[in-house]
Amino acid sequence: MSQAFVAQNLNSYRTGPDERGHFGVFGGRFVAETLMPLILDLERHYEAARSDPAFKAELDNLLTHYVGRPSPLYYAERMTEFFRRKAADAGSEGGAKIYFKREDLNHTGAHKINNVLGQILLARRMGKTRIIAETGAGQHGVATATACARFGLDCVVYMGSVDVERQKPNVFRMKLLGAKVVPVESGARTLKDAMNEALRDWVTNVADTFYCIGTAAGPHPYPAMVRDFQCIIGDETRRQMREAEGRLPDSLLACIGGGSNAIGLFHPFLDDPSVEIYGVEAAGFGLDDKHAASLAGGRPGVLHGNRTYLLMNADGQIEEGHSISAGLDYPGIGPEHSWLKESGRVTYLSATDAEALAAFEQCSKLEGIIPALEPAHALAKVGDIAPLKPQDHLMVVNISGRGDKDIFTVAEHLGGM
Ligand SMILES: *Cc1c(COP(=O)(O)O)cnc(C)c1O
Repeated sequence: MSQAFVAQNLNSYRTGPDERGHFGVFGGRFVAETLMPLILDLERHYEAARSDPAFKAELDNLLTHYVGRPSPLYYAERMTEFFRRKAADAGSEGGAKIYFKREDLNHTGAHKINNVLGQILLARRMGKTRIIAETGAGQHGVATATACARFGLDCVVYMGSVDVERQKPNVFRMKLLGAKVVPVESGARTLKDAMNEALRDWVTNVADTFYCIGTAAGPHPYPAMVRDFQCIIGDETRRQMREAEGRLPDSLLACIGGGSNAIGLFHPFLDDPSVEIYGVEAAGFGLDDKHAASLAGGRPGVLHGNRTYLLMNADGQIEEGHSISAGLDYPGIGPEHSWLKESGRVTYLSATDAEALAAFEQCSKLEGIIPALEPAHALAKVGDIAPLKPQDHLMVVNISGRGDKDIFTVAEHLGGM
């Protein structure tokens, strides 16, 4: 059954995954038999929690008072004017009205905390006392260590030893928060290997351990569960845009690493055909060189318990992704995005390191907002799309995180520090 048929048949893009975790031909749970009981137990508890008003109330309370939600929907006036002038120079009267969804203002500085708090509350419900996580750039590790500190839970974060070296400030943050950081020496010693190690830990420590995954990937039910926790981004955006403009936005843009900030913004709008949706992958040095654009430059395969687009060599071995942004260099992508690509509902673009750097600088100077390098990839495509749209076109860009963590990387490239 083709993906387009599934969507058409159900008359909705929002009903997936099916009971076995499939989004069309993607997703599923390709895991060792020994992991199956844990995954089924997690699924059962998640299903119960999501329909329990007490769970929702506890999470909402934390999101309000601990995270600082709702995050603002901010009208980026100077950026809007900048692209209107650019359109005018090209002889057009266009230039979309640009809004930023300010996930950079959340506690810990990014969207990741939305998902982590949901999973940690679930872990508590399940009586688990030990939390494990994998991290690449360290952002998910920091969010998990933060939530574990808040609830007095043991926290172990697996991190490739190459990343431990590259991301020292985040390693120090996790330790300050009371987490144990375990350097992983297998494989390429980066994120993919850290995720493998976390899965191994989980099977070994069945009784007390909860595995907190940082993006909308992994075996079912993780992609759907992480998406659900991140949907607060899109749900708020709908409400806030109604208040600001009295209607739905016309387009949405978000960057894609594993795809959690993007699916969180997109999902509540998937069944509104008037809303154009753009996901932006990291094109690194370029799609014909080293990059991390799994959809644009990969092919379907199985990794970390699900079937999705992956960066692979001719033998099917997973290749390292490259991006200037450490949060975007995962060599796969959440399975729902693979399905949304094939069904045609979402348009996937990519931005290079150089384009992201230029957009990073531009946003800082035009709006007084230093974005993380990840959402700078989405901002790079705003520059391509906004001038082509009429002035009454309402565009929302997800600013998934703030750029404090990136200033030294940027200084290396741009000089001047
Ligand atoms: C981790 C991270 C990303 C990439 O992860 P997704 O799951 O694709 O959202 C994007 N932006 C920021 C700020 C991040 O920390």
